[in-house]
Amino acid sequence: MFGNMSLAVMFESIFLASGNAGKLRELQAVLSPLGVDLQPQPATAEFAVEETGSTFVENAILKARHAARLTGQPALADDSGLIVDALDGQPGVHTSRFAGPDASSADNVALLLKKLEGVPEAKRNAHFASVIVLMRHADDPLPLVASGLWHGLIATQPRGEGGFGYDPVFYLPEFGCTAAELEPAIKHRVSHRGKAIAALLKQLQAEGTAAAPA
Ligand code: IMP
Repeated sequence: MFGNMSLAVMFESIFLASGNAGKLRELQAVLSPLGVDLQPQPATAEFAVEETGSTFVENAILKARHAARLTGQPALADDSGLIVDALDGQPGVHTSRFAGPDASSADNVALLLKKLEGVPEAKRNAHFASVIVLMRHADDPLPLVASGLWHGLIATQPRGEGGFGYDPVFYLPEFGCTAAELEPAIKHRVSHRGKAIAALLKQLQAEGTAAAPA
């Protein structure tokens, strides 16, 4: 989507305030063609942030600000999660730690399937949400904030090897497969994260930070 636009982004290097390899892969796939070097977060304790916010927006700001302060660089954070209608919006901001603080993706998926046992297909609606924040520096009073949503159904069993996290149980009726079975390039275009990063790039373009080609 952005390849055709050939955006020249003025942020040559941005620090990604996340240790999640799946997020890094997906954001890099969109930003690298624009000439932005997305620097991955080292797996050291100093970068860990307690996600005390009750919204994705608050947590994304906490993560981006902390990384910008530590690195002295512009920092991008994605706070994302799954909102399941039949669970009154759970796991929401607790998506990564649904089955406990050290839960693996497999543990989280297993708990989700257990909680939805017996729930019919018509009531298995779910939504992935992503909020992406770009803080130009740690004291940025007006960070860029963009969000995206992706609608699907929670499958009754995992399917597919691609993606990460809950992708194997996120079924997309319009594609007839789970997010883990989707071509990565399609996921980048239609996912919550793909939409959020596209919205962020639009904001950058509008404020003149990212210029469209002549
Ligand atoms: P965060 O690091 O607090 O933003 O955690 C977000 C959690 O939501 C991740 O650990 C994943 O389990 C899940 N998640 C977010 N985006 C995706 C996605 O694109 N596919 C599958 N799971 C996702």
